[in-house]
Amino acid sequence: MDLRDLYQDIILDHGQRPRNFRVQEHPSHVAQGHNPLCGDRITVYLTLEGERIADVSFQGRGCAISQASASLMTEILKGKTLAEAETLFRGFHAKVTGGDAPAAPEALADEMERLEPLSGVKAYPARVKCATLAWHAFEAALKSGSAGATVKTE
Ligand code: ZN
Repeated sequence: MDLRDLYQDIILDHGQRPRNFRVQEHPSHVAQGHNPLCGDRITVYLTLEGERIADVSFQGRGCAISQASASLMTEILKGKTLAEAETLFRGFHAKVTGGDAPAAPEALADEMERLEPLSGVKAYPARVKCATLAWHAFEAALKSGSAGATVKTE
């Protein structure tokens, strides 16, 4: 499989210098994501203030796609409400699987645009799980709270 088409500048940049790549000592929510197919492992840390995401960060190891996607996700979700995060996840999932999603509201158009570099993975089904891993971990964290959980992309 030729991955060069996927490795656009933004993905490379985020993969090499991931943003918000740090542990939170006292997150309100945490979960691990594991993609056995590729070997990606990501832990997502969340601090919520009411319905708003005050802080979101991650740590982990894996391919450039999984790291870049997690990095972009943290940049985009910081400061958003949980409802906005859900809309963005649905939009992103549709983008990388080639599926349909209701059009994102105008207020989130910039965020959806920033996720566009990852849309190339839809041509590589195995890579979709790398791209969505951080988002699945984010959702698992919301459900499990500070106790943590592990979600596998299978
Ligand atoms: Zn991967």
